[in-house]
Amino acid sequence: MSEAAKLARALAASGDLPDEGLYALIERRDGESRAVLKEAAGMLAREKYGRQVYIRGLIEFTNYCKNDCLYCGIRRGNRKAARYRLSESEILACCEEGYRLGFRTFVLQGGEDPYFTDERLCPIVCKIRKRFPDCAITLSCGERSRESYRRLKEAGADRYLLRHETAGKAHYGMLHPPEMSFDNRVQCLFTLRELGYQVGCGMMVGSPYQKTEDLVADLRLIRKLRPHMVGIGPFLAHKDTPFRDMPDGTVELTLYLLSIIRLMNPGVLLPATTALGTAMEGGREEGILCGANVIMPNLSPPSARDKYMLYDNKLRSGAEAAENIALLRENLRQIGYGIAVARGDSLVER
Ligand code: SAH
Repeated sequence: MSEAAKLARALAASGDLPDEGLYALIERRDGESRAVLKEAAGMLAREKYGRQVYIRGLIEFTNYCKNDCLYCGIRRGNRKAARYRLSESEILACCEEGYRLGFRTFVLQGGEDPYFTDERLCPIVCKIRKRFPDCAITLSCGERSRESYRRLKEAGADRYLLRHETAGKAHYGMLHPPEMSFDNRVQCLFTLRELGYQVGCGMMVGSPYQKTEDLVADLRLIRKLRPHMVGIGPFLAHKDTPFRDMPDGTVELTLYLLSIIRLMNPGVLLPATTALGTAMEGGREEGILCGANVIMPNLSPPSARDKYMLYDNKLRSGAEAAENIALLRENLRQIGYGIAVARGDSLVER
């Protein structure tokens, strides 16, 4: 057996490896170690969550952003991006439609849009909470103050997604402008957890300048934070960003890391992301087989979908579209899985 396959077996058996082991597992990966990880992580996910995939309805409610992240298509500096924000009634209409389709979690994601002060966002959350008492409300709108997170929680939000993007501090600096800080981002995650949110962190795979050391640091940070969810996907270049000519992250490494994350964090919610589905047809289904258990179809109005372009060719149609849930169900049926109509809480305890 190859060295990497032995390490994969050891990880599957114990749920952890020393940093050098994780490093070698990634750096020396081969067909054999891939097969071991996929088998073990897929099995563990099925043990924990069955052959059921949780779905979340993603509502991209604004693409205005005050940040200038070098990789992101809706960065402030992208003058070509046509900007939009959804009104309260449009957001509520998305939820109505989503509920009808069987969604019991709504994810409000957006750029860091200063328009959405607490005074504007809290009432929206409140209304969703009142109208859909059996649903979970997830927010994903970047770094805010502790007080703001507290008020949003009080308004009815249950969960918060804030990818840490990379746990390598130097690497973080290469992906973001100087005014953004790694320490603040990680602090936000711990604050959210403290406030009682179910939290999701995560990183891009194969982002520019990423080293294997950075990925090991990601895996360590995930263990330290013990998040309820971990969202990862390949970096995909956007033509109107400074990273336009950078190579895309690979599906292969993303799948490999999904399996490692599952094995190191058995009860975690692990989405097979849109970026994974964009990078390869059938990518999300393969993600499920490698240990993922969540899919987040797009519930945004069609006009918004075209404008929430984080990277080139972002999937908007087919099984990615919430209204095509029948197609998603069929794709999952073909790999032996079904869709759960449920809030889909994490097995990771508070
Ligand atoms: N403003 C929110 C939401 C950001 S968009 C926040 O700060 O959390 C959601 C995620 O898309 C980001 O966290 C990032 O990991 C991912 N993303 C952005 N640009 C990308 C790109 N070019 N390729 C792949 N993923 C990207």
